[in-house]
Amino acid sequence: MPLVSMRQLLDEAAKGPYGVGAFNVNNMEQIQAIMEAARETKSPAIVQASRGARSYSQDRFLYHLMLAATELYLEIPTVLHLDHGNSVETCKSAVAMGFTSVMMDGSLMPDGKTPSTFDYNVKATREVVEMAHAKGVTVEGEIGCLGGIEDGHGAGLDGLSHLTDPEQAVEFVQQTGVDALAIAIGTSHGAYKFSSKPTGETLKMDRLLEIHKRLPNTHLVMHGSSSVPKDLQDIINQYGGKLKPTWGVPIEEIQLGIKNGVRKINVDTDNRLAMTGAIRKVFAEKPEEFDPRSYLKPAREAMKKVVALRMTQFGQAGHMGDYAPIPLEEMVKRYQEQRLAA
Ligand SMILES: [Zn+2]
Repeated sequence: MPLVSMRQLLDEAAKGPYGVGAFNVNNMEQIQAIMEAARETKSPAIVQASRGARSYSQDRFLYHLMLAATELYLEIPTVLHLDHGNSVETCKSAVAMGFTSVMMDGSLMPDGKTPSTFDYNVKATREVVEMAHAKGVTVEGEIGCLGGIEDGHGAGLDGLSHLTDPEQAVEFVQQTGVDALAIAIGTSHGAYKFSSKPTGETLKMDRLLEIHKRLPNTHLVMHGSSSVPKDLQDIINQYGGKLKPTWGVPIEEIQLGIKNGVRKINVDTDNRLAMTGAIRKVFAEKPEEFDPRSYLKPAREAMKKVVALRMTQFGQAGHMGDYAPIPLEEMVKRYQEQRLAA
């Protein structure tokens, strides 16, 4: 089936209710890992690419790999989503390329580093919503700033300094008409999220509950939600890596989020760790190997395992065939008739 809108996937997830993992890709093996995991667990799939990934893959390679995915995995509703669009222009170019969902991250200025004003964020996001909805494409916005830096994007904050204000979140959704909203509740991008095991207090889940109470029909998005499991860190370090001890977001906290309006969960680091660990293992155990497939295959398999596990933990497993895809042209009509107001 053709790529579908993210709005449809998330509306269906809200009925569940369940969450849908959004996994970042740069290359063929990562796309294959996600699609194989989706097939195995019978899950809908969100594949996402950052600006860094688009540039790494020259954009067109990525798009055509995704077309291949839709041809080979006909039964899986699949979304191609732009992660952290930094400007209206970036989002426009993604829509022109065939992305079926875009994130306009107006919480930062177009340099992707400097926190912006509320008014700037509303204006830029509103512009993207008008442009994207006219093509049936979904828009995710962000209010509040996440910690850490991802693919050169992020203010490098400590994660707690710019939490989402629930009142502002309501205003933002009303003024922009976004389909999904990324919120800052203390998570950060990258492997080094927490320097000790997070307790119930580390993540500001009360903030999330408050936002969900005020915006019960808005699909919430958790960024920086890798769990950074110890066994994946251990494999890397066992085979010559040098990761410092670190902790990610516990699955139970994500599951609590899913019970409270979280419909999209962004995961990248866990997959990076899994692939790198698998490659290091081959290099250490079979130093005579030099065929790239000898280490890319186990890397792909390791990522597939992590993705399949997350799909099961988030609850999307088994929901692949619940619905027929809505064509983007039909989404355009629904937006025009305001049948999709949050
Ligand atoms: Zn993010």
